[in-house]
Amino acid sequence: MSSGQLSRGTLVIDVDACKGCELCIDACKPHVLSMTTGKRNAMGYLYPELEPGCTACHACALICPDFVFQVWRYDEPVAAEMQEAA
Ligand code: SF4
Ligand code: SF4
Repeated sequence: MSSGQLSRGTLVIDVDACKGCELCIDACKPHVLSMTTGKRNAMGYLYPELEPGCTACHACALICPDFVFQVWRYDEPVAAEMQEAA
């Protein structure tokens, strides 16, 4: 049995719309969003990246002032390994 985390949803992240405010990081209760540490977007900001374990709760999309996120819910939870290979 894999120890990989299941994802109930995923995000489309409009990286270049992000202003780096980090509101989404605290809003994400499963703590599957983290800011890049080196990579910056076209405006020069650090931006969030998604790790496995998204619950498709929409909290990030609701709090983001810049409409960076589209949230998609999977019909069936997806194993992290499969998600990474997709
Ligand atoms: S809340 Fe939106 S603008 Fe702020 S860091 Fe997250 S994605 Fe970027
Ligand atoms: S939809 Fe919910 S769980 Fe997924 S990244 Fe956004 S806040 Fe986190």
